[in-house]
Amino acid sequence: MSESPKPLPLVFSEPRGRKKPPRHLADLDEAGRKELLEEMGLPGFRAKQLSNHYFARLVDDPAEMTDLPAGQRDELVSALLPELMTPLRTMEADKGTTRKTLWRLFDGALVESVLMRYTDRVTMCVSSQAGCGMACPFCATGQGGLQRNMSTAEIVEQVVAGARSLARGEVPGGPGRVSNVVFMGMGEPLANYKAVLGAVRRLTDPSPAGLGMSARGITVSTVGLVPRILQLADEGIPVTLALSLHAPDDELRNELVPINTRFSVAETVDAAWTYADKTKRRVSIEYAMMRGINDQAWRADLLADVLLARGTWGWVHVNLIPLNPTPGSKWTASDPADEREFVRRLEARGIPTTVRDTRGREIDGACGQLAATEA
Ligand code: SAH
Repeated sequence: MSESPKPLPLVFSEPRGRKKPPRHLADLDEAGRKELLEEMGLPGFRAKQLSNHYFARLVDDPAEMTDLPAGQRDELVSALLPELMTPLRTMEADKGTTRKTLWRLFDGALVESVLMRYTDRVTMCVSSQAGCGMACPFCATGQGGLQRNMSTAEIVEQVVAGARSLARGEVPGGPGRVSNVVFMGMGEPLANYKAVLGAVRRLTDPSPAGLGMSARGITVSTVGLVPRILQLADEGIPVTLALSLHAPDDELRNELVPINTRFSVAETVDAAWTYADKTKRRVSIEYAMMRGINDQAWRADLLADVLLARGTWGWVHVNLIPLNPTPGSKWTASDPADEREFVRRLEARGIPTTVRDTRGREIDGACGQLAATEA
């Protein structure tokens, strides 16, 4: 392992002078990798071998890259496979099938990712920013503000790290693969649009150029940055869109999801509808159930009205998340009876509704708990 760089202060006052994360092959497409090596006077065809080690063989030890000439190996590896992050701590729950990792990035910024193994799939929940600027008051990450955007490679590396530990049999259940990725860790993915889109491309690029995952297995979750939702709809990558709605009325949503003062509930839901219409992918509406705040029967009815405003069915489903109270939170999870009634009312209007499981709660690995405050 290479020597870790010194951490920078958490607050950056001079963004222009800020150092960028190391450039890595996962930041570039196949042609870009080849070009870079050639610019450095190295043979371009080595890019494919490096990609194969990274994305297909999931190797991270240069000593195992025996098809690279020993004399060039170090130069090639430092050009395209620099170390991006170091694991500081891994916490396990559910008999080791839920694993949260706290990562330290090159500049000392901290982010977290969570691996969740189920009987039929493995989902990686990844961060897209160190911190978050959206300031949702019930979310742990939202309390600390934004430190910085993550690079494409820093985002991808979280998935590759999970894939490595699965391939090596480190997760109970035998060797396995990552089947799903959800951008539900720290950060607002659509506020870091370019890097996130790059990461989606690397995850879906056929192996060994990328991980070869299906776009259908990838979920981008957003507070609802309307112009970015519409842009994403035109990218031709049918990822699943999750919209964190949490309230059907502007008055309450302005408080719970402050960006709502810029894009109203009606505008945001309409953008999500357009996304479903263009991509033919069903949108997931995320709704964290908060006792006495947004869980009233009348709000379930209003939510159904809002989601059916276009008069079309089948474009959306609702995913209720039992609130994970964060330290000092004035909100708590809903009463199970209120939750059942909420589900009943939505389903009565023909809206498929599920209640999210809360894996990883005890290791602060559940939705909205990722805060990375401790090193
Ligand atoms: N910025 C993106 C991704 C964030 S996390 C977004 O807002 O969608 C993914 C989900 O967890 C979001 O729906 C978010 O609102 C939700 N969440 C945040 N804090 C939570 C908490 N304390 N309990 C339950 N869900 C929470």
